[in-house]
Amino acid sequence: MIKKIEGIILTTTPYGDNSKIINVLTPDYGIIGIMGKGVKSIRNPLRAKTEKFTYAYFHIDYKENKLSKLIDIDIIDNFKKIRSDIELISYATYITELTNQIVKQNDSEEIYDLYKDVLIKINNGLNPLILTNILELKYLDYLGVGLNLEGCIKCGNKKDIVTIDPDIGGYICKNCYLNEKIISTKTIVMLRKYHLIDIKNISTINISKDVIEDINAFLSRYYERYTGLYIKSKDFLNKIKDIVE
Ligand SMILES: [Zn+2]
Repeated sequence: MIKKIEGIILTTTPYGDNSKIINVLTPDYGIIGIMGKGVKSIRNPLRAKTEKFTYAYFHIDYKENKLSKLIDIDIIDNFKKIRSDIELISYATYITELTNQIVKQNDSEEIYDLYKDVLIKINNGLNPLILTNILELKYLDYLGVGLNLEGCIKCGNKKDIVTIDPDIGGYICKNCYLNEKIISTKTIVMLRKYHLIDIKNISTINISKDVIEDINAFLSRYYERYTGLYIKSKDFLNKIKDIVE
């Protein structure tokens, strides 16, 4: 059956000499595997349109539970700004690989929108690290290890929160505090905002550098400790980030 389906390419796998299998995340059908016959050859007009994080309408011969066949692609947004900047490409690559891991564990339709909105905002020039961290924080809920931001992780106390600890996995109140690293109130408040904010509504971001770095460090450690995910491109991203700064 011929269909036109909106989606974003998560992974691409070479097939034979000049073909490619692309996995496309879609809002309505989950992930669709599509065979792009001949798309790797230099003269094929679909060559440049079958790269990772291509956001488009895919015209396909749809086959349920089998590889569909690629017919044509209409680009919705080619994320020109991202593709012209090595640092932004690294961010987009990382969140694409992360999204691929998340959808393996949870088929919620909301994941598509979160991922798409972050790509759009990064392409609009908003801070890629903040957006990546917001996405990481929101994805934790879909991995079943969402951050509990309601009260102290040990006793449930909603008041007198003194810090948040990635190893213990949440807030710690005055009564339960032992010797965990103190994270500033500003960072704690901002972490909560990251969790609540609707990505679509972000138009400007103004957060101090130390808060941004604290949150990034917190999330990296929390991911290591609680998700069991290892995303290769995050290492590369951190290296690029250090070079650029
Ligand atoms: Zn407590």
